[in-house]
Amino acid sequence: MKNDQVYVAVIIPLALPMEYTYSVPKHLVDSIDIGVRVEVALKRKLYSGIVCLIGDSVDSKYAIKDIISILDPMPILSDKQLDLWKWVANYYCCTLGEVMHAALPSGLKLESETKIVLKENANYDFSGLNDDEYLVAEALTIRNELTIQEISEILNKKTIYPIIRSLLDKQVLEIKEELIQKYSAKKVRAIQLSPEFTDQAVLLQFLDDKIRSEGQERAILAYLTLSKSGNMLIPVSDIYEMARVNGAILKALEKKGVFTISKIDVSRLKVYSDDILEVPDLSIEQVSAIAAIKEFQIEKKPVLIHGITGSGKTRVYIELISEQIKLGNQCLYLLPEIALTTQIVERLEHYFGDDIAIYHSRMNNSERVETWNAVMSGKKVILGARSSLFLPFQKLGLIIVDEEHDPSYKQTNPSPRYNARDTSVVLARMTNASVILGSATPSIESYTNAVNGKYGLITINKRYGNSVLPIIKVVDLKREKKVGLLKDTSISKPLEDAITDFLSRNKQVIIFQNRRGFAPTIQCNDCGWIAECVNCDVTLTLHRYFKELRCHYCGHRTKNPAACPDCGGDNIFEIGQGTERIEEDLKLKFPEAVIKRMDHDTAKTKKNIDSIIYDFSTGKTDILVGTQMVTKGFDFDHLGLVGIINADSLTRFPDFRASERAFQMLTQVAGRAGRRGEQGLVIIQAFTPEHPTIEETIHYKFDKFYQREMHERKQFHFPPFLKLIYIELKHSNADKLKLAAEFFTDQLKKRLGHRVHGPIIPSIGRIKNKYIQFINIKIEPKPKVINFTKKLIIHTRGEMQNIQGIKGVRVNIDVDPY
Ligand code: ADP
Ligand code: ZN
Ligand code: ZN
Repeated sequence: MKNDQVYVAVIIPLALPMEYTYSVPKHLVDSIDIGVRVEVALKRKLYSGIVCLIGDSVDSKYAIKDIISILDPMPILSDKQLDLWKWVANYYCCTLGEVMHAALPSGLKLESETKIVLKENANYDFSGLNDDEYLVAEALTIRNELTIQEISEILNKKTIYPIIRSLLDKQVLEIKEELIQKYSAKKVRAIQLSPEFTDQAVLLQFLDDKIRSEGQERAILAYLTLSKSGNMLIPVSDIYEMARVNGAILKALEKKGVFTISKIDVSRLKVYSDDILEVPDLSIEQVSAIAAIKEFQIEKKPVLIHGITGSGKTRVYIELISEQIKLGNQCLYLLPEIALTTQIVERLEHYFGDDIAIYHSRMNNSERVETWNAVMSGKKVILGARSSLFLPFQKLGLIIVDEEHDPSYKQTNPSPRYNARDTSVVLARMTNASVILGSATPSIESYTNAVNGKYGLITINKRYGNSVLPIIKVVDLKREKKVGLLKDTSISKPLEDAITDFLSRNKQVIIFQNRRGFAPTIQCNDCGWIAECVNCDVTLTLHRYFKELRCHYCGHRTKNPAACPDCGGDNIFEIGQGTERIEEDLKLKFPEAVIKRMDHDTAKTKKNIDSIIYDFSTGKTDILVGTQMVTKGFDFDHLGLVGIINADSLTRFPDFRASERAFQMLTQVAGRAGRRGEQGLVIIQAFTPEHPTIEETIHYKFDKFYQREMHERKQFHFPPFLKLIYIELKHSNADKLKLAAEFFTDQLKKRLGHRVHGPIIPSIGRIKNKYIQFINIKIEPKPKVINFTKKLIIHTRGEMQNIQGIKGVRVNIDVDPY
């Protein structure tokens, strides 16, 4: 078909396999552009999609619909961003719609909200309706449209769906789909001088002649002071505060015609009000690191900084950011966890003030839209979690990926299953920016890239200033247990003594345990019953504080049983130790100490996290117990001792990355101790102190660890030697799933042979009532093989959906699983 009609391809934020084509009505042709959002209908629902292609012909056998409206006067997405979306979709085997879903803040995605209207051309003979139906129909002839909520109020009934359903069937009503814009600017009331008083002489004359109230006088003077900066619209709250007046006084002045009161948009972004500090001088090590980085930057090579904990990497980043700001460029500083942002934000704000904006998933939608807009208008430094990669940078000069080894850079669910660290290397290449990955414990992948010369490598082996790495001691739990020292407690004698010692010297303590809750589970001593989730194949965790058993996979909760549900006996005991139990142990042993806990249960919101960190950094807390949340990035002045309750739980994980993770976690948490002044101490409790990873951690032997790990990866065919793609199949019917997994594996094996492993039933074979099987693919890291494999997987997935008996099984593809 070829005519003068304009067509667009539109990305819709769903897992649709393709983009959809729409025609552009004549009156919108001039306003259409790539990157603008448009309102479109799809399967009787409305969506806001993004235009990704404009053309004058179309190849489709289906009727093409018009777009309904254009939502943006200017594109909200640049070509470069769209290129990144395409790369992510292609590399991680997902749709552009899924990338859009992850990339745009919800405030920029529109949603349908259901409203009910009378059916167009309906005959208005309501004689066939019952009383309730009649009421609704009649109300609609008056009100035009009603929400479900309003209908429920009119009928004074809770169950109204059957009534609506019947009215829909009788063709009296229809559902109106309307897009609602979720983002709205924050408004405050503000005052402004009326035009006749903008001449100050006139105003002062008026003040002398007509104003008798002291409050009114104070309000006028406050306005004059506050508007000196040139901003003539002053929020009423500022006037209240400065003049100590209330709304009645401003109202009176409005009546006299002095002020007009109106609503204005204000920013939700925090304003930095402290002084900007001078950055401290660089150490010799930092100066030479920066010189070396520059060399690599000229070559356009990504740089990996391997600097031990406390070596001053952050100071290096600050220097590099300053330089970019001077060049008029934007910088993106990625952090894996928002818990970390608190401390780093504060640190950076001292030097960069309002040039910094923050972006992460725990901000509300409107704040995220404002950061998005700020980046579009050139905000200099963005500190954010992985999705900040998708912000609309105008002139990106530098990306820093701090703690680049961190697993939370990888999104696991839902799609796109992208790794923000690797994607940032791609984004840097696309935008001609430089990229720096930093860590005290680099990932095997990145370190290998550095060793192979693909990345530049910078090593800093010395802590900043006089501070040295802490001493690490291991307590052999086997021996402690044998001599009966570990009865009813998780704290060994040496750890207890160390805590006593550090507390007596006014030093603080962090205790790390990788499990939250009280006890990982409970078991009946008489019949062997064990608390298991009804929806997942996992044990339930006892949360004593909530008097509940909880599933950490699906959130299922049940009361902690007083007696065994199977045999009725009361001989139930707790297995293992979670953070909650350790907190309790510590409270018994150190009744005088202030003890706080930081895990998913106590640190749900950003506010909780901030207050825990604040209390610790100001010395209000003596001991902080926590999960991996306490292992990362913290920089506290008085933290002397770090205790690790059970290192075995880390090394024993059934995953090829277990050793790597354990080494990283142990080294990182150890690195929190003694960062300033006096040397710190770390105590690791373990049943297997002879485990090589623990050995290597104690002696800070990264190289030895790396060599050993590479040897194993090579021997067992794991990355970086081979590339991994996992395929996850899920369904609520176990038999159907089995058939699908077998079919899928067979199809892949036909072409890929021994590279395909499976189907595998994972150790947790059911989550949220869905059964799970895996197929693992290990392929040579060659672009041709990789692309062929990805195409084959996607093709097979499509084919499966046409086969009776197995269609409907969900297939998730995970490229570079982490
Ligand atoms: P890393 O990020 O490598 O763990 P940091 O950048 O947090 O290390 O530095 C460790 C400590 O040393 C911090 O408290 C920091 O303030 C201090 N520090 C680092 N570099 C300097 C410097 N050039 N001048 C003053 N203090 C510094
Ligand atoms: Zn569950
Ligand atoms: Zn029992």
